[in-house]
Amino acid sequence: MEKLKRDVVIVGAGPAGLMAARTAKKKGLSVAVLEARNRVGGRTWNGKVADDKGVEHFIEIGGQWISPDQTRLTELVQELGLTTFPRYRDGKSIYVSPDGTRHEYEGVTFPASEKTISEMEKLIERLDELAAEIDPHKPWEHPLAKELDRVSFRDWLEQLSDDAEAIDNVSIYVASGMLTKPSYTFSTLQALLMASSAGSFSNLVDEDFILDRRVVGGMQSVSLTMAKELGEDIFLGNPVRSITWSDIDPDTADDLNNVTADVRNGVPHNGEAGDVIVNSDDLEVHAKFVILAVPPNLYSRINYFPPLPRDQHIAHQHISMGLVIKVHAVYDTPFWREEGLSGTGFAGGRLVQEVYDNTNYFSDGEDSYGTLVGFVSDIYAEQMWALPPEERKEAILEAMAAFLGPKTKEPIAFYLSDMAAEEWTRGAYATSYDLGGLSRWGHLQNQPTGPIYYACSDIAGAGYQHVDGAIRIGETVALQIAEQIGKG
Ligand SMILES: Cc1cc2nc3c(=O)[nH]c(=O)nc-3n(C[C@H](O)[C@H](O)[C@H](O)COP(=O)(O)OP(=O)(O)OC[C@H]3O[C@@H](n4cnc5c(N)ncnc54)[C@H](O)[C@@H]3O)c2cc1C
Repeated sequence: MEKLKRDVVIVGAGPAGLMAARTAKKKGLSVAVLEARNRVGGRTWNGKVADDKGVEHFIEIGGQWISPDQTRLTELVQELGLTTFPRYRDGKSIYVSPDGTRHEYEGVTFPASEKTISEMEKLIERLDELAAEIDPHKPWEHPLAKELDRVSFRDWLEQLSDDAEAIDNVSIYVASGMLTKPSYTFSTLQALLMASSAGSFSNLVDEDFILDRRVVGGMQSVSLTMAKELGEDIFLGNPVRSITWSDIDPDTADDLNNVTADVRNGVPHNGEAGDVIVNSDDLEVHAKFVILAVPPNLYSRINYFPPLPRDQHIAHQHISMGLVIKVHAVYDTPFWREEGLSGTGFAGGRLVQEVYDNTNYFSDGEDSYGTLVGFVSDIYAEQMWALPPEERKEAILEAMAAFLGPKTKEPIAFYLSDMAAEEWTRGAYATSYDLGGLSRWGHLQNQPTGPIYYACSDIAGAGYQHVDGAIRIGETVALQIAEQIGKG
C-alpha cells in the first residue's frame, strides 16, 4: 500500500472535486484526488456511438447544457480556454397533447386550449412568486418551508388547478424534466428550490434559456482540462473505502450493553483540521481535511471510523437519485431542419416527454450528421429497461416520431445513457430529498462533520443539480478550507 501525505484529500474527480482540488492548489495547499472510475468527469462524459458502417459519432452521455445564469461555469470554461456553441433552435417547435395530437408552434407557450394556457399561466405565476422568496442556499429558512415540504408537488398543483393537462405541462419542468421523479414523490419546497436556483420557475419553462449552450468538445472537457492541470495529483481507479477521521467521545461508551465509544452526538470544532486517513485499495492518504465530492446517495458506500454522527446517518437516508434515460439518435442529416422544424418538442405525461436537436459542433464547424436527444423519465424509464433491447428501441423511436415524423424511426446510430447502472452514480440526473426531508435535514448538508467537507452539485444552492453548482460548491469549500489553514 502506497502512503501519501497531503493538506487535503478529495474523494471524487467529478467537476466539484476537480474544482475543489484546483482551487486548493492555487491557494498553495497540497492535494490528492482519489477517483473510483478510470476516468474523470463523473456525470459528464464524452462518449461515442458507432453506426452500421462503423463510423463513430460523438455523444454526451451525461450533462451537457449551460444556461445564462450559470455564470461561474461560463467563466471557468473561458479560463480553461474552451469555447461554447448555442443549441439549434430555428424553426417551429412541436407540442404533442395528451390525446397524441401533434401541433407545431412558435415561442414558449404550448398551443393548448385557452383554459389550459390560462391555468398554466396561473400556476407559473404562483411558482415564480414563491421561488423569488426562496434562498436556494437555505430553502429550509422560508417561513412556509415546513408547510411547502409536507405537500407533494402534484398535490399542490392539484389544489390550485383542476386542469390535468396544465398540471402535466407545468410539472414536466421539475418532475420528469429535472428531478426525474414522479411529481407525487417530492415536495413543493424541493420544486421551488429547483426554480429558485435557476433564477425563477419561468426560466425552467424557457428551454431557450435553460438549454442554451454546449461546450465544443463536450462538457467532460471541463473536467479533462482541470485534470490535466492537476496532473499526478489525480489517482484514477481508486474507490475510497474508508475514512478515519475523528477521536471518539469516551462518554458515549455503554459498557452495560457492550457499546464502544463513538461520536454519535456530533463532533466539536466542526470544519477545523484533523488527522484524517483516507484509504482506497492501493493508497493510504494522510491529510488535514477531506472533501467528499460524491453524490449524497454514495456517502454510505464509505466506511467511517468512527461512524458518522447520528444526525448524518439519518439525513443521508432521505436523499436519493432520480432516474432518466438520455436517448441519442443519429441521422445522416438533421432532416427536421429542412421541414422548418427546430427539433424541439414537448409532450407532458408521455413516454418521451422532450426532444431537442443535439447536432454536434466541432472546432472546425458543425457536424454534417444530425443528432436528436430525447428523455425518458422515472416510471417510463423503469418500463423501458424492463423491455428486451429491440422492443425498447422501437417503443422509444415510435414516441420520438410523434414529434418529428416517420424518418425519426430510422436513425443510423442509437444509444441510451444508462447512469443508473453505473456503480459510482446509480441514477440520473441527480439526488433530491423525499417528502419532508429538505426542511428537516437540508440544513445539515453543507455543514462539515469535523474535518470532512461536502461538495457536490446535488447540495449546491445556485446551480443546484447542474455542473455550475458543482463548480461553485467545489470552489467555495476549498476556499473555506484554505481559510482554516491560514491560506485564505
Ligand atoms: C444524463 C445526465 C444529463 C445531465 N444533463 C445536464 C446538463 O445538461 N447540464 C448540467 O449542468 N448538468 C447536467 N447533469 C448533471 C451534472 O452532470 C451533474 O450535476 C455534475 O456532473 C455533478 O458533478 P459532481 O462533481 O458534483 O458529481 P459527479 O459528476 O457525480 O462526480 C462524482 C465523482 O465521484 C466519484 N466517486 C463516487 N464514489 C466514490 C468513491 N467512494 N471513491 C472515489 N470516487 C468516487 C464518481 O465516480 C464521480 O466521478 C446531467 C447528468 C446526467 C447523468
